[in-house]
Amino acid sequence: VKAAGGGNFRFYAAEMNASSLDRLDMTNDLRRALERDELVLYYQPQLSLRNGDIIGCEALVRWRHPRRGLLPPGQFIPLAEDTGLIVAVGEWVLRSACLQNKAWQNAGLPIVTMSVNVSAHQFASKNLVERVAAILQESRIDPNTLELELTESAVMSDADEFVQATDSLKGLHISLAIDDFGTGFSSLSYLKRFAIDRLKIDISFVRDITQDPNSASIAQAIISMAHSLKLSVIAEGVETEAQLNFLRKRGCDDIQGFYFSKPVPAAEFEQMLRERRQL
Ligand code: C2E
Ligand code: CA
Ligand code: CA
Ligand code: CA
Repeated sequence: VKAAGGGNFRFYAAEMNASSLDRLDMTNDLRRALERDELVLYYQPQLSLRNGDIIGCEALVRWRHPRRGLLPPGQFIPLAEDTGLIVAVGEWVLRSACLQNKAWQNAGLPIVTMSVNVSAHQFASKNLVERVAAILQESRIDPNTLELELTESAVMSDADEFVQATDSLKGLHISLAIDDFGTGFSSLSYLKRFAIDRLKIDISFVRDITQDPNSASIAQAIISMAHSLKLSVIAEGVETEAQLNFLRKRGCDDIQGFYFSKPVPAAEFEQMLRERRQL
């Protein structure tokens, strides 16, 4: 038994070694990916439930890895967070998303809001406000066509700093949303203290909205609370007509999800705008 245990341990240790080497490999690769322009943005439409129009999109990063193929963010964002590379990745995403939106605006396409994910680490970095201001200036987009999606973990890290940071970001006249709302176990008191514009109901509540009464209650509570605080609400991960109808009946403002479209390359999203596709 002992020998087998030892063998297992060695096997496990070897695996750990392989995976930390793999991480080192990936870290170096990711550093180079930024220089070699291997990151790419996909865009997922956001639709108004009031009139069915495309009103925005969320920029979602992928990595065209030279050997591993097209990698979803789950396979490199956590590593980027651990190594601090997320600040550079996040800046690339923000700049690219704003420049893309400007290009669509210049082409005379319907004006959309570009939502960009900002990780807690990136949010905590000292000069986020200056970086955002610089990118707004460089891309010459109207600031109210940019929305930053913050997670509750950014909120939780330090309430006073969060007030300051959100106030200065709002001073740039951009929009702020809380992403994955309802999953963070944070105090709700921040909602009235901070300059937030929109809540994004997490996919985990939307998924079971039509089967599980608890998910339905939570979604409904988020919508009512948001509206009484004069915030708008978007639901992510909407896949079915039943989910869509539930959300519409409860007064949810906007939706995003596979029901209308998965995240798509820029050219495909542009085509949707050109055709003025509707829900
Ligand atoms: P998220 O911000 O919650 O983004 C939504 C994720 O849900 C996306 O996965 C999207 O493809 C997926 N999704 C959208 N609609 C549906 C649906 O109807 N059903 C299901 N099952 N899934 C749906 P993706 O693109 O793989 O991104 C995963 C996460 O990676 C994002 O979650 C976000 O946390 C992170 N991420 C992506 N891009 C960035 C970025 O530029 N910066 C940072 N910091 N994080 C990013
Ligand atoms: Ca998001
Ligand atoms: Ca989300
Ligand atoms: Ca999520």
